[in-house]
Amino acid sequence: MGLIIYLNGNYVPEEQAVVSVFDHGLLYGDGVFEGIRAYHNRVFKLEEHIKRLYESAKTIMLDIPLSMEKMSEVVLETLRRNNQRDAYIRLVVTRGKGDLGLDPRKCTKATVFCITASIQLYPEELYNNGLITVTVPTRRNAGEAVNPRVKSLNYLNNIFAKIEANLAGVPEAVMLNNEGYVAEATGDNIFIIKDGVLITPPVYAGLLEGITRNCVIEIARTKGIPVVETLFTRHDIFIADECFLTGTAAECIPVVQVDGRSIGNGKPGPMTHSLMKAFHELTETDGPQIFPE
Ligand code: PMP
Repeated sequence: MGLIIYLNGNYVPEEQAVVSVFDHGLLYGDGVFEGIRAYHNRVFKLEEHIKRLYESAKTIMLDIPLSMEKMSEVVLETLRRNNQRDAYIRLVVTRGKGDLGLDPRKCTKATVFCITASIQLYPEELYNNGLITVTVPTRRNAGEAVNPRVKSLNYLNNIFAKIEANLAGVPEAVMLNNEGYVAEATGDNIFIIKDGVLITPPVYAGLLEGITRNCVIEIARTKGIPVVETLFTRHDIFIADECFLTGTAAECIPVVQVDGRSIGNGKPGPMTHSLMKAFHELTETDGPQIFPE
């Protein structure tokens, strides 16, 4: 059976969830989105995701025709209509239908849709054995262009990096910024662990301020693990004891090799394991319920 999709105020079967070929989200990548996850009848960090969606929209000067409360309700209601308690949710707001020119003033009404489906970013076995990654030639775009903190529909840079990883025969790419500092992976944030300290690039390195990233930082601080947000280079990854990626779709996944160098002993490390476990525990209790219990 097909999914029920929320589209511009209506809940419709997926065959009927269609947008115009004049939609600027499609023509120009003009829009913003969120990837959210539901676990055990709760939408994890829903408020944070909705807030980031509206912040992204503010920067691109896109008016979302729904309140934040209503948008949260759309997510919950789409899950209910599909009878889902565990799901991957894609919430998208585009500039809407315009003409063939760029000018967003021609787009009078934003397009809003919500898809609740599932996702498996990496095969299960990589969560146990860790990812092999490479750094790639395509740099994370600079904040003076489309700021990476804006979760816009412009993912071509990251798609280039993904293609470069594919060509290298590995499942994920690590992207550097224009100065050569480590930024993030194509759809995940990056962490290293060195001498018991958890290190991740600061947002000004040019990265999406991941909700999973912030969650892992909070977990680490609660556990008394020192956390440092600082710029670092490939060399720092090579000599790290552990490395892992975080993201809504990926959750927490260990990295065991970068550019042919084994990280630590080449196996997922103990701090990564302990943070992965604590993260999963948090997903069981955080966020609004979908169906009242
Ligand atoms: N960086 C990029 C480029 C992403 O697309 C994502 C996924 N949204 C992340 C990082 C991780 O962010 P989050 O933990 O909020 O999913």
